[in-house]
Amino acid sequence: MRSVIVVGGGISGLAAAWELRGAADVTVLESHTGVGGKLRTGTVGGIAVDEGAESLMALRPEAVELAAAVGLGDALCDPAEAPVTVWTGGALRPLPDGHVMGIPTDPAALAGTGLLPPRALARLAAEEHLPAAPLTRDCSVAAYLAGRFGRQAVDRLVEPLLGGVYAGRADLLSLRATMPRIAALAERGGPLLPALRRMRAAAGPPSPARAAVRGVAGGTGRLPRAVAEASGARILTGTTARSLERLPGDRWRVRAVTDDGTLTMEADAVVLALPAFAAAGLLGPHSPLAEAGLSAIPYASTAVVTLVFSRARAPFLPEGNGFLVPPVDGRTVKAVSFLSAKWSWLRAAAPDAFVLRASVGRFGEDDLPARPDRHLIRTVLAELGRAVGPPGEPVAARVTRWDRGLPQYTVGHHDRVRDIREAAAKLPGLALCGAAYEGVGVAACVATGRAAAREVLARGA
Ligand SMILES: Cc1cc2nc3c(=O)[nH]c(=O)nc-3n(C[C@H](O)[C@H](O)[C@H](O)COP(=O)(O)OP(=O)(O)OC[C@H]3O[C@@H](n4cnc5c(N)ncnc54)[C@H](O)[C@@H]3O)c2cc1C
Repeated sequence: MRSVIVVGGGISGLAAAWELRGAADVTVLESHTGVGGKLRTGTVGGIAVDEGAESLMALRPEAVELAAAVGLGDALCDPAEAPVTVWTGGALRPLPDGHVMGIPTDPAALAGTGLLPPRALARLAAEEHLPAAPLTRDCSVAAYLAGRFGRQAVDRLVEPLLGGVYAGRADLLSLRATMPRIAALAERGGPLLPALRRMRAAAGPPSPARAAVRGVAGGTGRLPRAVAEASGARILTGTTARSLERLPGDRWRVRAVTDDGTLTMEADAVVLALPAFAAAGLLGPHSPLAEAGLSAIPYASTAVVTLVFSRARAPFLPEGNGFLVPPVDGRTVKAVSFLSAKWSWLRAAAPDAFVLRASVGRFGEDDLPARPDRHLIRTVLAELGRAVGPPGEPVAARVTRWDRGLPQYTVGHHDRVRDIREAAAKLPGLALCGAAYEGVGVAACVATGRAAAREVLARGA
């Protein structure tokens, strides 16, 4: 049996290892003390909570299918039904159903929500009468959508959703890479509103059986652990790959450091399942082109502030699943998730507690997540107070920082990824996967991991 080293034990690398089970002798190298990367379930105030991703995208099947395949089918669960809510203009305002990344298919449904002032609403609704030549090149989300719907619609409807998923900015993020359905319509030409309405009608009414995201009872951190186990791979945690060397016969040597010293391993193939900047460091000596492309993918840093309140003493128990905050309102918090309201497994596990998490830090605000824990916790409490009422004192709190945690798919991302992949394809026995390429969500990461595994197998490993 041939050998493969997977560098990076996040969900992408573990999905690759799982795909290779039975077909190769696999070793996974992971820097941290445990596997999972951004899928991490920790304990705050004695309660298991997700500190990174809290859900699995379910509109595409890869993550939930993998969870079921590794024995977590019974643990998959839906969030409580609640509209996406935006905290803007001093109030929590639900986004009417039937929007695509914030863009309403029925602008009339926005009337009375206070999300947009009347003139901005009229501007948005007028989109269907504006001529639209087919879009021929990638541009920023804001550049295209502000031209179609007006700047206020971008600021108050689209920007909060992009902040929630990418911690990114509409002025920088690529329309093609972050809103592919909208980009495809734009490339066809013609107004978006009628096309979105047709798309929505064709998809049929939303049903609970088609929740956009699903959770894992006990925390999403269970998924990487289960995948690691089911893969049968040798998992070396606390092991950081420092260099890659090409050997005769298209084999690879990986040098790594561990707590106990150094480690050198050889294999027929290597899968790099790393953030772009880490993959760039390892690939530099072998492919300057791949290194340049990878280094050009910027990252946003964020922090997740988890707060646990006692239900008995909390002066407030907010309704809904949480809220998103547009940057235009000048708040520090960009999203709040009322975990105890959203996930029944958490309510069952900790019935006396109310757990929520707030995230701070968008692209370009690196200083914000780096502030001291106490400062972040006080800021979140103060803003929560303004949004939903005085929250009282938490009984436990944790700040989890994700330094350079979310890749930014800026304008031209697809071309950049194509160039990186073409350059990497010239290195026999090497494949790339991870959140930097074709999607940041867990499902997309699983897909890239499995594809990377098939690639090294097809190329002879
Ligand atoms: C706060 C936050 C919330 C999120 N929420 C959601 C959500 O709710 N739903 C969703 O679908 N997605 C969410 N995402 C996105 C998603 O979680 C990530 O994009 C995805 O988990 C990335 O997986 P990965 O394996 O590609 O990368 P990572 O998880 O970053 O894994 C890479 C691994 O490589 C290791 N590593 C790095 N360098 C080396 C080296 N030299 N040697 C060995 N190991 C190394 C790292 O320690 C890490 O474990 C969220 C992301 C963040 C940051």
